[in-house]
Amino acid sequence: MGEGSEVSGKAPSKPETLLEQADNCRKSLYRSKNKKKYRHHWLKCIHSYESVHTRYPKSEQAPWALYREARMYTKLYGYSGMRQDLDDGLQRFRRLVREYENHRLADDAQYRIGEIFYEHKDDPSQAYVEFLKVDVKYPSGDMRPRARAMLNKLSVILSKKNNQGGKEAAHSRVNELALVKDIRHWSTPTYTRVVIDLERSVKYSSNLLKKDPTHKKPRRLYLDLVGAKVGKDIESSIPIEGGLLHRARAGQFTKDRVRVVLDINSINTHKIFHLYDPFRIVVDVRGDEERSNASKSPASSRKRRTKTKSGEQKSQGKTVSLARQLGLGVERIVIDPGHGGRDPGTYIKGGIKEKDIVLRLAKVLAAKIEKRLDCEAILTRNRDVFMSLERRTALANMKKADLFISLHVNSYKQKGVHGVETYFLNLATDARAVMVAARENATSEKNISDLQQILNDLMLNTKITESSRLARQVQRGMIGRAKKRYSGVRDLGVKQAPFYVLIGAEMPAILVETGFITNTRERKRLLSKKYQENLAEGIVSGIERYIESIEQAYKGG
Ligand SMILES: [Zn+2]
Repeated sequence: MGEGSEVSGKAPSKPETLLEQADNCRKSLYRSKNKKKYRHHWLKCIHSYESVHTRYPKSEQAPWALYREARMYTKLYGYSGMRQDLDDGLQRFRRLVREYENHRLADDAQYRIGEIFYEHKDDPSQAYVEFLKVDVKYPSGDMRPRARAMLNKLSVILSKKNNQGGKEAAHSRVNELALVKDIRHWSTPTYTRVVIDLERSVKYSSNLLKKDPTHKKPRRLYLDLVGAKVGKDIESSIPIEGGLLHRARAGQFTKDRVRVVLDINSINTHKIFHLYDPFRIVVDVRGDEERSNASKSPASSRKRRTKTKSGEQKSQGKTVSLARQLGLGVERIVIDPGHGGRDPGTYIKGGIKEKDIVLRLAKVLAAKIEKRLDCEAILTRNRDVFMSLERRTALANMKKADLFISLHVNSYKQKGVHGVETYFLNLATDARAVMVAARENATSEKNISDLQQILNDLMLNTKITESSRLARQVQRGMIGRAKKRYSGVRDLGVKQAPFYVLIGAEMPAILVETGFITNTRERKRLLSKKYQENLAEGIVSGIERYIESIEQAYKGG
C-alpha cells in the first residue's frame, strides 16, 4: 500500500481540511533539504492534493489543489530528471485549463504550460503557441503582460533560429540544400501571381532593381533563397503571359543560394509572403489602376442594378456610382468551396466529406446570388478537383472580384459541439480559432505562430474592416434564416484567424464554417437540400445587407 492511499484513507472529509493538510505537507517538504531528495516525500504531498480535486472536483479548493499538484510535479522533475514527472505536471495544468476554464488560475496554468515548453522541453515554437493562448484567451487576466513579454522574447529567438537554419544550410553540403521544385504563375493584364515551390522552408530576401540601360537590363524584382538549389526540372527562363512581367528566371546564384528574377514590363505594386506545408513563396504584382479599371467588363457594369426594387430612392443610382467609384460596389463574387480532389477536408466514416458538402452548397449559393443580387458569381471549382489555396485567391484577384467567400465544414472531437461561425483574416483571438485555422490551412498549430508574424506585415494591404463587416452580416443572415425554420441553431459568432486561403485576397474575404460534421443533427442538416437552400438564402441576405451598408455609408458623398 502506498503512502498516498494511506493519507486519503485517514483523511477527514472536508475539502478545506484536505487542502490545508496537503499545503502543510508541501511546506514542510520545501523547508527540508533532506526530504526533497526522496521521491516518496514528494509523492505523499502530490497524492494529498490529488485527493482534494478527485474527491471534491466541484469544490472551491479543487482547482487550487490541481494547480499546486501540477507545480509540484514540475519541481520534482528538477530533482528527478524524469520526463514522466514533467509530463504529469503538464497534463495537470492542461486539465486545469480545460476543466476550470473560468477559474482565476486558468491563465496561470496556461502560462505555466508555455513555461514548460520554453524552459524544459526546449520547444520555443510550441511555447509561443501556449503563451499566445494566454494572450488571446485571457485578455483581462493578470498573466497577460508576462505572456506578452515572453511572446516578444520568443519572436526574437524564433527568428534567430530561422536565420541560423539558413547559415547552417549555407555551410552544409550541396545535397542538403532545399530543392526549388517548381515555379507556377497565373496572370491577367493587370495582375500576376508567381509561386515558388520549395522542398522545405528557407530564408529569403527580395529586392526591386531599377532599369539598367547600360547593360540592357529591364526593371526587375529578385528573390534570393538561402540554402536552396534549383531542381533540374526548372527551366532557366519561364515566359509569363499577361504583360506585367516578361519572364521569370531561376538560377544557382552561389553554391547555396538560388536567385529567382522576375523581369518587369510594368508593375505598380508588389507583395511577397510565404505559406507552409509545403513551403512556398508567393509573389503578387499589380499593374496600374488605369489598366485595371479598363479590364472590368462593361457588360457586367451595365447589367448591374438593372432590376429596380419598388420604393427604391431616386438618389440611389448616384449613390451606387459613388460607391463604385470608390471601388466599393459589388458586382462579382467569388465563391470558394473548400478542399476538393485528393483533399477531402474533414470527413467521417461512411464517406461523408466536407469537399462534397461545400461544393453542393456553393452551387446553390451561386444560383441564388445571380438571381437575387444580380451579381456575377464565380466558383473557384465546380467539380471534385484539387486546388491549392493560393490559386483560389489568385483566381479572385485575377477576376477582380469584389467579394471572396470560402465555404467550409467544421469538426470537433466532442460530438455535442455544433453551430455556425464566420471568420475573417486577422490574428487569432482564441485558441479554438487557432485550431480551426491550423486544420483548414493543413498545417500545424506551430506554423500559426509564424503566420501571425507574416500577417503583421501584410495587414496594411488587406481589407480588414470591410471583411469583418461582411462577416458580421453574413453570420447574422445565416443565423436569422436558420432560426426561423430549425431548432437548436447555435450562433458561434464572428471570429478571426490567419487562414491561408484568405491571405493575399485583394477584396473583402471571409470563411464560413457552416456547421459541424461531427454533430449528428448538424451533419444531417448540412446534407439536406432544404437546409443548404436555407443557408444560402441567409448568406445572400447577409451580402445584401453588406452592400446596402456600403451604399448607406457613401450616400451623399
Ligand atoms: Zn475546410
